[in-house]
Amino acid sequence: MKDRIINVLAAFESDHIGKSFPLDYCLPLYHSVSDKELPHLKHIIRYKNIRQFEEDLDHIATNFQFVDWQEFKDYWSGHFKPKKKIALLTFDDGFREFYDVVAPILERKGIYACNFVNPAFIDNEEMMFRCKSSLLADAVDKKKTIDPEVYRIFSLDSHVEKGIVQKKILSVNYQGNDILDKLAVKLEVDFKAYSKEFKPYLSTEELKELTRKGFGISSHSWDHPKYGDLSLKEQMETTGKTFAYLKENGFLYETFAFPFTDFEVKKDFFDELFKNEEIYCSFGCAGIKLDSVKRNFQRIPMEMGESGAKILKKEIAYFRLKKLINKNTIIRE
Ligand SMILES: [Zn+2]
Repeated sequence: MKDRIINVLAAFESDHIGKSFPLDYCLPLYHSVSDKELPHLKHIIRYKNIRQFEEDLDHIATNFQFVDWQEFKDYWSGHFKPKKKIALLTFDDGFREFYDVVAPILERKGIYACNFVNPAFIDNEEMMFRCKSSLLADAVDKKKTIDPEVYRIFSLDSHVEKGIVQKKILSVNYQGNDILDKLAVKLEVDFKAYSKEFKPYLSTEELKELTRKGFGISSHSWDHPKYGDLSLKEQMETTGKTFAYLKENGFLYETFAFPFTDFEVKKDFFDELFKNEEIYCSFGCAGIKLDSVKRNFQRIPMEMGESGAKILKKEIAYFRLKKLINKNTIIRE
């Protein structure tokens, strides 16, 4: 229903969104770009192919001025005067396609991007639990017969269709990592072997190479927990550990992007985070939205199965709607 209203409203938005865009900055968020089928991502992220990604970039470049990290900071301090509203391109999770596919495109077009990574997964020692569930969902698709134990783990009747099993697998959370490992045995998926063969994540060497090329490598927490589920102590531990890692390796330690969402993250976390004066700002991904924590910027998820032009129009329409009912700012207590 909500989506239908937004679609109707978005149809009235002009293609020239430089003027109608309600904020002075546009912060698009991606994870991966590939023309290939990626089993560890296909069930959890609707990543774009190269043509779609380039179309998004061209659309954004027409309406905004892409900036790099220094320009982004200088913009806020008044030392950088852009010709248009600014856009800062961001990626999350540190997937290998950022090096193989995205960086060459961005270098050709002269666009900066920052990738927010989880040190736990760099060099492919481990894999984020969401990628594990995508691999397992993929195995369910491909297998002719499924071990009855898989149904039992979810207390499902063994006659239910595969789609239901996949849904259950994809709803396992961070705390359910053990269940995924158990399922992997039953579905004959070897996460370690997959990691070794396909190397879904960037290596330390690649992160350093990307830094030399001028891209930003920054923090997305140590291993991608949902911050709203953690105690303040746990939030600070995973954040602090990653900050130290970035600093040691010469990466960009001045910023941090929340894994999953910053929903239900309270003011006390931000107070604690910004006690570290070397941290300039943080990023969420709630779309075009303001935040009562002025240094927490909300980004726009661009992998929603639609063109960038369509997503931005819908975001603008949605922001207007929320503004009418005073709901366009996230209030943190
Ligand atoms: Zn992430």
